[in-house]
Amino acid sequence: MKRVVCIGGGLAAIYFSLLLSEEVELYLILGEGPEESNSYLAKGGIAVSLDIEDQAAHIADTLVAGAGLCNPQIVKEVIENSSRLLQDLKARGLYFDPNPSKEGGHAIARIQHISDQTGKFLLEKLWADLKKRKNTHFLYHTVATQLIIEKGICKGLTIANYLEGTCKNIFADSVVLASGGCGNLYAQHTNGIGANGEGAGMAKRAGIALQDMAFIQFHPTKMFLENKSENILVTEAFRGAGAILRDNNGYEFMKDLHPLASLAPRDIVSLGMFLKMEETQAKHVYLDFSKVDTQHFMRSFPFLFDAVKRGGFLSHEKIPVTPAAHYQCGGVDVDGNSATAIPGLFAIGEVARTGLHGANRLASNSLLELFHFAAKLASSEIIQTNNYGAGEDDLKPLIVEIPSELLQMENAIKELMWHSFGICRNAGQMEKALGELEVFHATIEYFEATYLFAKRLGNRIETAKAIANAAIQRKESIGCHQLIH
Ligand SMILES: Cc1cc2nc3c(=O)[nH]c(=O)nc-3n(C[C@H](O)[C@H](O)[C@H](O)COP(=O)(O)OP(=O)(O)OC[C@H]3O[C@@H](n4cnc5c(N)ncnc54)[C@H](O)[C@@H]3O)c2cc1C
Repeated sequence: MKRVVCIGGGLAAIYFSLLLSEEVELYLILGEGPEESNSYLAKGGIAVSLDIEDQAAHIADTLVAGAGLCNPQIVKEVIENSSRLLQDLKARGLYFDPNPSKEGGHAIARIQHISDQTGKFLLEKLWADLKKRKNTHFLYHTVATQLIIEKGICKGLTIANYLEGTCKNIFADSVVLASGGCGNLYAQHTNGIGANGEGAGMAKRAGIALQDMAFIQFHPTKMFLENKSENILVTEAFRGAGAILRDNNGYEFMKDLHPLASLAPRDIVSLGMFLKMEETQAKHVYLDFSKVDTQHFMRSFPFLFDAVKRGGFLSHEKIPVTPAAHYQCGGVDVDGNSATAIPGLFAIGEVARTGLHGANRLASNSLLELFHFAAKLASSEIIQTNNYGAGEDDLKPLIVEIPSELLQMENAIKELMWHSFGICRNAGQMEKALGELEVFHATIEYFEATYLFAKRLGNRIETAKAIANAAIQRKESIGCHQLIH
């Protein structure tokens, strides 16, 4: 029996696993499971064009967002397949709301959604289906730390149980990276705790190129909650309903930056907020919702209303908000079949750079992308015909306790990424920050033989450096890479 190992518990990994032949033995490296994934948090939905006319418009919208850096062939392929994908999900018993919604950058309403928690509902159903399959081994509390490359071929990976510190090499005919994005590299982000850039870092260490890593997309309004790991997005539609951005003195600062003020395009709003926060040394600005009708708030934004209530902001009629790292547009370089340059190694989902997004992602194209390529890879022959062998080797355990200097290093990296490779970037500051990342890199290597967390942090630093180098090399502002002088 052939063996495939897949890293991840998000929709890319789960849909791939569900579509893979049951003749293949599958190991899923899961961390804590689906709930720590970004997929679980996806709210808006999946961009789907239902007819040929709309396909052309959807392609045009995607290319405009990507600012000339998309791969047009990939854009066409993914979008032309989108209605077939929707049919497959419906055939699996998923019920989408009858009226698609419209999001920024889309010419028409084409976002297929399930209430305002699309990712959660998709994951719960597909996960329940996957659990019934006999060919899948679910490895909980386990993380991948390193790819095993022999004679230029990926033969498997090293995994570690983070409760016990036990480590082993697991060999397989094919390895699939579905480890998601890297929002957790930033002090402010909207992502789940599993999105920390480790998969991309592992691939980089194995010699795979990471492409388009300068393009980290930021969401303008995440609820700012001091000392809480909960990430709550405040949808742009809430500003559409009348909520207004104000600084800590109550001043409507966006009026000075764009005629549409708080309703300016997403990137301009993020930039305006970030500059205001830097100027006033504040950790957030406010979203004043005193003009939003309460009935409308409760009815149209039930998830947000509940979160505002829990946060204690309802009576103040304003929510502290900050922009935050949201989506990794680039990633592990793959061809149209999700194959990397190393035989035996594949990448799907947010960790992969397929060429769909270019310099900026069109909203709700990411779920579409991951479903398309997960399905294509699961049905491709190459994933099942590699003949690299299977097996396991126990390794020396690692210490699971995390030394305080490593936690401090992790926090320092998040602050550095936020201030130097965040919403707006400056050449001098980026060079200086890259130097600091190099120092962290050299230091972490010393800890890696002993501490499991050091291995993970080492992979994260590799991804952070890839973002830094890519940002430094891009001399012009484009897409979500914005320079200031
Ligand atoms: C708040 C929010 C809202 C969003 N809304 C939408 C939307 O409406 N529409 C849309 O198209 N996109 C949306 N996105 C983006 C979209 O959700 C993600 O791009 C997509 O879900 C990524 O899926 P994935 O399977 O590739 O990765 P994820 O779902 O992030 O899963 C990655 C998995 O890999 C695991 N993992 C990571 N490293 C390791 C390791 N070393 N070892 C083992 N496991 C590991 C993680 O724990 C996780 O389980 C949103 C994102 C966020 C954060």
